[in-house]
Amino acid sequence: MKQLEGRKKPVLQELINFGEELVLRRKNIEEAIEEFLIKIGAFFDVDSIVVKEKVENGAAVKCTYEWNRRSDPLTRGLERRFLDKIWEELDDIYFRNGGYYIYNRGDEGPLMMLNKASVESLIQIPVYKRSEKVAFFEFIDMTKKRDWTTDEIDAMKYICGYINEHMFPKRLPRTDTEVLRKRLDRDQLTKLPNIDRFLRHVNKYIASENDPDCCICIISSDVTNFKYINEKYGYNTGDQILKRLASTIYLRMKDIISCCREYSDIFLIAVKVPKELGNKGVKTLVDNCNNSFLDEIKSVTEDTNIAINSGFAFVGDHDLTVEEAITGATAARKAAKEMALFNTSRCCPYDTGMIANKAKTVEMIASCDRALVNNEFVVYLQPKVLCRTYEIVGAEALIRWKKPDGTFVYPDEFIPAFESNGCIRKTDYYVYDKVFAYLRDRLDKGLPCVPISMNVSRIHLFNNGFVEYIDGLIKKYNIPVELIEFELTESICLEGLPSVTYTLQWLRQMNIRISIDDFGSGYSSLEVLTRLPISILKLDKVFMKDELNTNDKIIISSIVEMARLLGLDVICEGVEEDAQRIFLIEACCDKLQGYIYSKPIPMEDFSKKLEEELRK
Ligand code: C2E
Ligand code: CA
Ligand code: CA
Repeated sequence: MKQLEGRKKPVLQELINFGEELVLRRKNIEEAIEEFLIKIGAFFDVDSIVVKEKVENGAAVKCTYEWNRRSDPLTRGLERRFLDKIWEELDDIYFRNGGYYIYNRGDEGPLMMLNKASVESLIQIPVYKRSEKVAFFEFIDMTKKRDWTTDEIDAMKYICGYINEHMFPKRLPRTDTEVLRKRLDRDQLTKLPNIDRFLRHVNKYIASENDPDCCICIISSDVTNFKYINEKYGYNTGDQILKRLASTIYLRMKDIISCCREYSDIFLIAVKVPKELGNKGVKTLVDNCNNSFLDEIKSVTEDTNIAINSGFAFVGDHDLTVEEAITGATAARKAAKEMALFNTSRCCPYDTGMIANKAKTVEMIASCDRALVNNEFVVYLQPKVLCRTYEIVGAEALIRWKKPDGTFVYPDEFIPAFESNGCIRKTDYYVYDKVFAYLRDRLDKGLPCVPISMNVSRIHLFNNGFVEYIDGLIKKYNIPVELIEFELTESICLEGLPSVTYTLQWLRQMNIRISIDDFGSGYSSLEVLTRLPISILKLDKVFMKDELNTNDKIIISSIVEMARLLGLDVICEGVEEDAQRIFLIEACCDKLQGYIYSKPIPMEDFSKKLEEELRK
């Protein structure tokens, strides 16, 4: 084992020993580095450690490792390009200081862009390979200014050097994109593949295997009232339960082809089963697996009300593709949940009647790509106005599908279908692109702009790429972040999943406002408002009844007051009547969105309205 020179403190020696053990103990060096960062973070009592490595042949750096005390990684995988001038300035400072750079809030130096971020103190340490700078480490304190001591700085330099010389070279010589893809291919919590990889794997398996006596069964399972488990026992327990379910599935299910967490507490399993097993046999198989899981988690929670709902469908049955079998298994799972009251088993086979308008759904999904190419999707904007004066203060982007025959299809009809197979990613990205382009056009023409909010489907928060996509759009169109907002429904935020937290934190770090949509439409938790980095609360249109009774009024006023106390902006949607508007003014809700002022309208018409307002 490496011995440090006498002047290095014994604790530092301990840290190095820990690193060496990690390398020996862990087969995967990437994981060893990540675990080491946790230990180092605690050692130096910082809030975050970020490693940025130079991208080959470029002025850009990519964040390859990140540890945060309070959240999941926020910038891992992202690339940043520094101006040559900044590189030179930093190199100059490293040289003068003897190998480090210190930033404190308010500094005007090369990292002054951090003044906008939640960083109080940061120390940056470069590491070199054959006298060429290859990476730097950033140790960050988010709460207070730090007076880093010479001892501390020496220790940091030593540790960074150690990782650079003894850990980095042990990594497999993979390209950046491969490393990143591998990481993104997995669900970080359960370590199961993500849905994309699941689909790839199952489809590949089917293409290569041909056993006439067997068939492939897709099972969809979820945990009843999972969000209540999170609320009651805390997220750690919730996480443990999900991890346990993942491992039980792997242990108990025979002939598993692949398994993934679709999102939240919903798991998909693909198994190879003998045809003779039939519905009854598969049901027994699934029931056994679910029961043994319930037995196991008795040690984690005492809750006897936890149950698993499962549905299954066979690929090839009724000509179902893998994707369609997932839709079928999902419908069956929901049916199992409904029937559970009358039944001891919560497992149900798919039957064609479950997806009543499956043909329509399939048709819609099939025509999504064509519609995108033909520009059949149109983005409408619905103004958000001040209750008192009707001054336009924003807009919400809402998608419309204009079929070639001129008829319109409304989002409620096609969004659920698109969400079931991932098309929603393409259409939402299309909407975002149109909104960004619209804002860019107005900015270029020197016309006034108001913030535009875009809806975020839950699918984005359980799959990868959303953060990277938005980051790309901001750069492509160079749009000030104040002009964009994202609307997320309350239920998504409640899931409390690492991927959701990651996305929310990232948006917050970028200073992009998040609004909680449809607040009050379902299971509403005021607690969630205090916990998440949201800026706007959007009261659901269910509150806007024809005649507001006293109870409605009390509820609305209390929510508005609470939100305002928490420093949130409040807007009410679905306002149609003047009496509703007057009441909102009394309740101190100053913004509304609704037919009373305008329905969603084409972008050109919205521009005209803005221009009209200017002339007033
Ligand atoms: P939402 O996000 O709650 O959007 C508000 C819906 O309320 C819109 O319906 C809007 O036209 C309607 N609305 C606005 N004011 C009034 C009013 O005064 N009275 C009544 N009765 N309705 C009003 P729309 O455009 O049909 O959209 C329905 C839902 O589809 C949206 O609900 C949203 O969840 C989803 N959606 C729409 N566009 C997109 C999109 O681009 N991406 C995603 N992921 N979802 C979208
Ligand atoms: Ca919305
Ligand atoms: Ca809404």
